[in-house]
Amino acid sequence: MIELQSITKSYTVGTEQLDVLKNVSVKIEDGEFVAIMGPSGSGKSTLMNIIGCLDKVSKGTYLLDGEDVSDYKEPDLARVRNESIGFVFQQFHLLPRLTALKNVELPMIYAGISKDERTERAAEALEKMGLEDRMDHLPNALSGGQKQRVAIARAIVNRPSLILADEPTGALDTKTSRTIMEQFQRLNREGVTVIVVTHEPEIAEYANRTIMVRDGEIVPSASVERKWGAPSLEWGDGG
Ligand code: ADP
Ligand code: MG
Repeated sequence: MIELQSITKSYTVGTEQLDVLKNVSVKIEDGEFVAIMGPSGSGKSTLMNIIGCLDKVSKGTYLLDGEDVSDYKEPDLARVRNESIGFVFQQFHLLPRLTALKNVELPMIYAGISKDERTERAAEALEKMGLEDRMDHLPNALSGGQKQRVAIARAIVNRPSLILADEPTGALDTKTSRTIMEQFQRLNREGVTVIVVTHEPEIAEYANRTIMVRDGEIVPSASVERKWGAPSLEWGDGG
């Protein structure tokens, strides 16, 4: 479970302190599928980076599975990331000179898994993403949707309990976006907690709950409902 308690993230720019997240409190239970929406610059990526232990809070407490990671530094943050979190990004972040299979093997190299097991598990993850006939392709020889499925295979290969995807469909057409969201939905049904940042209400509908961020603050869910009022979305408290 993810529990942010009154966290603030500040940057010092010149002589000014910029509060990018202000007193944010969020709880996300194991097994939830959450969408994070909000205008550009509102702090969504900053929030994802903190949840993903890629960045640290300036103030407040972050409990991840009951472990207080607020004051962790590298390499402890890296340990938490490698043990429990998979990341997916808008621009895929695949290494261009490595085949799909080698890209998916990467996180397992960092985890110290043997070559044979790496190959086997990478192939398995790619098969799960429907890419069994694309394993030896370089990223450039793949479509956008295929690249993102390679990236998802890479994100799940260490069997994380949490997947964080920051605008994973931002570079994809509508139809391809749906196939990517179906993959996240399937992983969520298998028990993985999924958090997706998106601009698109249609993409947010795949989630069971939407969190709105504006100007570094979480918009209370009741006012989200008033503004958007989409009956097909569940704006509840996740319970
Ligand atoms: P979003 O993902 O919602 O578009 P971000 O989380 O990327 O927003 O950024 C939120 C705000 O924080 C923006 O105003 C951005 O300029 C600022 N910001 C992000 N990273 C830094 C940084 N390293 N130093 C200073 N300001 C930053
Ligand atoms: Mg962003």
